[in-house]
Amino acid sequence: PLCGFQVIRCKAAVAWAVGKPLSMEEVEVAPPKAGEVRVKMVATGICRTDENLRQGLFPNSDFPIIPGHEGAGIVESIGDGVTSVKPGDKVILLCVPQCGKCIFCLNPESNFCLKAHMFETQCVLPDKTTRFTCKGQQIHHFMWVSTFAEYTVVPDYAVAKIDAAAPLDKVCLLACGFPTGYGAVINAAKVKPGSTCAVIGLGGVGLSAVMGCKAAGASRIIAVDINSDKFPKARELGATDCINPQDLKKPIHEVLIEMTGYGADYTFEAVGKLDTLAAAMTSCNLSTGMCIMAGDPPAGSMLTIDPMLLLTGREWKGTMLGGWKMRDSVPKLVSSYLEKKFNLDVLNTHTLPFDKLNEGMELLRAGKR
Ligand code: NAD
Ligand code: ZN
Ligand code: ZN
Repeated sequence: PLCGFQVIRCKAAVAWAVGKPLSMEEVEVAPPKAGEVRVKMVATGICRTDENLRQGLFPNSDFPIIPGHEGAGIVESIGDGVTSVKPGDKVILLCVPQCGKCIFCLNPESNFCLKAHMFETQCVLPDKTTRFTCKGQQIHHFMWVSTFAEYTVVPDYAVAKIDAAAPLDKVCLLACGFPTGYGAVINAAKVKPGSTCAVIGLGGVGLSAVMGCKAAGASRIIAVDINSDKFPKARELGATDCINPQDLKKPIHEVLIEMTGYGADYTFEAVGKLDTLAAAMTSCNLSTGMCIMAGDPPAGSMLTIDPMLLLTGREWKGTMLGGWKMRDSVPKLVSSYLEKKFNLDVLNTHTLPFDKLNEGMELLRAGKR
């Protein structure tokens, strides 16, 4: 009866310190303050970025912290002034929010928001406090959303209300992996029909990029991974060639250039390592080639490149979440999924109970998800 005004005790996976395994704890989740919503999490995906965070490779992150950023759930309660959602609504949590007011939210070309972590920390909510405590300690939020908790609290502009018919255990992947890879192709690169594309890294992001290349009408899609187990799925989604750099005598960029004449029209990096980033950059063609960085390089790392690579016209570009303005786009992506416009389910390799989150993290590390 006092729904929304009470502290909720529930389970959450806490990363107490860099490098430690996630620890299943009972946490307290405070009620939402003005402008905030508390969401009962129903399903969460696991993305490489969660593992990067655990390993201390994600910039400006404060521990202890509850990871997870690919979540879908149901609004449990709302704070004062919230009108965009009500208890019972199905929502997807947005790890890049859309405040609707900042200079980038107002720019139709941008999907950045000045409330996002890359500009201002999202380890605390906008009032600089957290809604999570455990054993008397404040626990930080991850990009506000912290989906590895049974309940979480975020500002209302960090959720998107979605179709009540959406299966939350499927559409949670629309919170990060799928929009990032697919949008890297469709929005960031704007791949033209008939082009040659190479995708390096075939996790959730890379496979979604392969789907995007296929949808964009690319005539050749070269899929690259050091784990050949990823190839059958890549082929099913439209890859025309699959290459394992470990089977080659030459560096991967040389092989890609040879295969394509002067380099691919578009290359996509979906690993998040400096060497694959450099390989992706050098293997798009020297004039009209475009390289999109979708992988997250380790925080604080530096890459040395020959600037002459860009002089001839090559473009090198990054993307956050594939360029979608998330609060506007996620409900539309959900509708497209329900209309079977893309195959999201192929990315869904395992479904585990919440208690087995660490097993899910282990599957990610082992390259099995
Ligand atoms: P993942 O771990 O599921 O997939 C990465 C793949 O790269 C694996 O299949 C792995 O075998 C392969 N790989 C590793 N080293 C390689 C190498 N040297 N050459 C070729 N392949 C190699 O990861 P994911 O969840 O798909 O995420 C991919 C990257 O994208 C990560 O860096 C993640 O942090 C980042 N990311 C960025 C955004 C964004 O907004 N830009 C969003 C989501 C994820
Ligand atoms: Zn992610
Ligand atoms: Zn904004």
